[in-house]
Amino acid sequence: MSKSIVTTNAIRNVVIVGGGTAGWMAAASIAALIGKNLNVTLIESDEIGTIGVGEATIPTFFALHQLLKIDEADFLAEVHGSIKLGICFENWRLQNDSYIHAFGYTGQSCWAAGFQHFWLKGQQLQISKAYGDYSPELVAAKAGKFGFPKPQALNYAYHIDAARYAKYLRILAEQNGVHRVEGKVEAVKQALSGDIESVQLASGQSISGDLFIDCSGFTGLLIDKTLHSPFEDWSQWLPCDRAVAVQTSSTEPPIPYTRSIARDFGWQWRIPLQSRTGNGLVFSSQHASDDEATHTLLSNVSGDVLIEPRVIPFQTGQRSAQWKNNCIALGLAAGFLEPLESTSIHLIQRGIIRLMQMFPYGGVTQADQDEFNAQMNQEYHFIRDFIIMHYHLTERTDTEFWKRCQTMRIPESLKHRLDLFKETGRVFQAEGDVFGENSWTQVMLGQGLKPRSYHPIVDMMDEEELAQFLAHQENKVTHLVGQLHNHEDFLARYCPMKP
Ligand SMILES: Cc1cc2nc3c(=O)[nH]c(=O)nc-3n(C[C@H](O)[C@H](O)[C@H](O)COP(=O)(O)OP(=O)(O)OC[C@H]3O[C@@H](n4cnc5c(N)ncnc54)[C@H](O)[C@@H]3O)c2cc1C
Repeated sequence: MSKSIVTTNAIRNVVIVGGGTAGWMAAASIAALIGKNLNVTLIESDEIGTIGVGEATIPTFFALHQLLKIDEADFLAEVHGSIKLGICFENWRLQNDSYIHAFGYTGQSCWAAGFQHFWLKGQQLQISKAYGDYSPELVAAKAGKFGFPKPQALNYAYHIDAARYAKYLRILAEQNGVHRVEGKVEAVKQALSGDIESVQLASGQSISGDLFIDCSGFTGLLIDKTLHSPFEDWSQWLPCDRAVAVQTSSTEPPIPYTRSIARDFGWQWRIPLQSRTGNGLVFSSQHASDDEATHTLLSNVSGDVLIEPRVIPFQTGQRSAQWKNNCIALGLAAGFLEPLESTSIHLIQRGIIRLMQMFPYGGVTQADQDEFNAQMNQEYHFIRDFIIMHYHLTERTDTEFWKRCQTMRIPESLKHRLDLFKETGRVFQAEGDVFGENSWTQVMLGQGLKPRSYHPIVDMMDEEELAQFLAHQENKVTHLVGQLHNHEDFLARYCPMKP
């Protein structure tokens, strides 16, 4: 597959098409971190606008911000942000049942076995508490608390206002020399090799470049419409294909976690910001109409509706070649996995960091493309399996939608993980998988998958030792959470929202 041929000449002019979260994240990063000898142009169309959703993140978000030397408190104040310690899944396993998938680690593992093995034996002996009681992030989330405890910091992410985030990054990017062009791309000119040479705007202006970054959203103007990179469709496992989104005024102080509430034909998100709440319902059009979904969503929000509900159709899957010729797709142009675990912005960031690591200064090689695509594909596949798991492990049989999810054939890669856990309690962190042992374990247990056995190393402890070990883990959590502040007070002191 890999022919290491140079397909374009040295890269000096980078053209980014699209000014949503993906476009501005790419522009800000490239300009600040590797842009000294590059000209970076970003084209966006106010007339087309952005998707306007994408407001929950995961802790990996830090990495890029640290590289960009973004001040956390200033950033949170600008984007009206709040803290996210995890996601509460309500009604997913059964109606009126809930569990939290929290960031960080639960309890303490040993070299041979994760904490769940110790906990499982504790359950048999009836000396362990709920699994989540050993996770500081989970206990803090439930208590509505946050802070910077010692000796161990919490793992956390943010809820952000997507439109304000794009503006924030735009200022950063322009300060670092990114040239923004307002306009609608109407035509794309290619060389005989297939490489993109220039894009033409409705105004007649032509913008040429050596490397193009397609951040045009679901349109996939360059990667799809021009280069025809095939789309791998995953809708046989993830039946939701639409979302309806609405913003409402806040009726209570922001809680430090996202809510994901299963409904009859999909699920609803609630993302609390300092200024308002983001809400949406992800649903399957085979099981509900737009009107039904909108009605369900509006019946389950609190506060005043701030903007009219908007229906967003989508297709789940990825482009197998996210880098093709001299074009790299990021964000929605590269692929889409529903926001159940808030992974899209993470994937944008992974694509940007990877591109910077492989930046083709001397020209694009097939080897670089193959490597980039293989790594991106692997990450997408891990996240795909993680999301399918939530649906498949449901015990709900009250609607056709949930029956279908429970009985569907799942990818072999996921089946293997579930079988391994069911038989042995084991979870292995695969390289390139953003979700570690703790995440897989929390969701599998939360969805009701209980292992038949635990690792024999646990039997090296007698009952008294195990009880002491578990109590020590619990005390550590109590000590950390005891140092935290009420989340609302924390926000008011640390990063009160700017006008
Ligand atoms: C319902 C839903 C909920 C989501 N929730 C989350 C979440 O909680 N967490 C998360 O991480 N992600 C989430 N996402 C994903 C997230 O919204 C996106 O990954 C993120 O916003 C990046 O979008 P984008 O920049 O690729 O596309 P967009 O925001 O659509 O931006 C596309 C840009 O391209 C421009 N453009 C398009 N065509 C042209 C043209 N012809 N000429 C010039 N410019 C053009 C547009 O004007 C715009 O500037 C969600 C997505 C959906 C659909």
